[in-house]
Amino acid sequence: MINKMKALVKDKAGPGAVIKLVAIPELGPHDVLVKVAAASICGTDLHIYRWDKWAASRMKPPVVLGHEMSGNIEKVGSAVKSWHEGDYVSLECHKTCGRCYQCRTGQAHICRDYTILGVDFDGCFAEYVRVPEANLWETDPKIPPEIACLQDPVGNAVLAAASVDVTGKTVMITGCGAIGLFAIGVARVLGAAKVYAVDINDYRLKIAKKMGSTRTINPLQQNPVQEVLLDTRGDGVDIVMEMSGNEQCLHYGLKAVKNGGRVALLGIPEEKICLDLANEVIFKGVTLAGVTGREIFATWHKTSALLNSILDIRHVITHKMKLEQFEDAFKLMQSGECGKIILYPD
Ligand SMILES: [Zn+2]
Ligand SMILES: [Zn+2]
Repeated sequence: MINKMKALVKDKAGPGAVIKLVAIPELGPHDVLVKVAAASICGTDLHIYRWDKWAASRMKPPVVLGHEMSGNIEKVGSAVKSWHEGDYVSLECHKTCGRCYQCRTGQAHICRDYTILGVDFDGCFAEYVRVPEANLWETDPKIPPEIACLQDPVGNAVLAAASVDVTGKTVMITGCGAIGLFAIGVARVLGAAKVYAVDINDYRLKIAKKMGSTRTINPLQQNPVQEVLLDTRGDGVDIVMEMSGNEQCLHYGLKAVKNGGRVALLGIPEEKICLDLANEVIFKGVTLAGVTGREIFATWHKTSALLNSILDIRHVITHKMKLEQFEDAFKLMQSGECGKIILYPD
């Protein structure tokens, strides 16, 4: 093995990133080196690439980007006992502290002091990635690499759906980015009776249809609240999953949800947003649930069981590219004319 590898690096504060030859990471006793088979671009990567306010306040370049991957173990650290060369894995990208109240009560996904692969330390848009053994997820070889690398964002959708109980319910999903699209598929396989998909992007609404939404609504053409109320005899939907981070979408959701309904919030607003708390939440008896990350590893178990059986997410993958084509990939992400983009470092 030569000791250099190709990696996509955020090498300085500011927009963009570069492909560089960097040293293959050295392993600590509890680390594992994984040869990356496939990686996928996440909204987070686009924030970092564009170098928005959040990225500028959080990151300290140089950092290798990327946190969604699948691959095979190349080498294990001296103290690693339960993982072996060749094992087919994906990874949980949150490295949790293991000490806080949440970590010690089975809620490590909301750890008070976690760091993120590809944000706070080197990630997986590279030929190899170093991963703490506790973050590895053994993956069934029947799941191909381009699906296996999506277990992290599919897990976000699974946790969101689990937090609101969609079985037999009418569901509105606002925002059809990748996680919104996964959420449509997850809601359907968990037995949602109806799924309304809302987005201003017709390209993504087409994918929403393929993922099983029973109706798509583009707010530029129709008012989602009116349409949903008409369709449900004025009741509104049981469940909303807000996946866009857009303030207007949240208002649509809170107006379209029935009294006593539940709203899962996963989309992250860029700015503070303003709610009519009295009329949109309190008097309606609405429950809001914040959803972040994946339960470690309860959500992973559910996600891989679903991917191994009834959940088909292939329609969400719209592009497969070489790592070197990252500029085109990020342009596509920015244009919104894509679902998930898979990158291959090899
Ligand atoms: Zn991600
Ligand atoms: Zn913790």
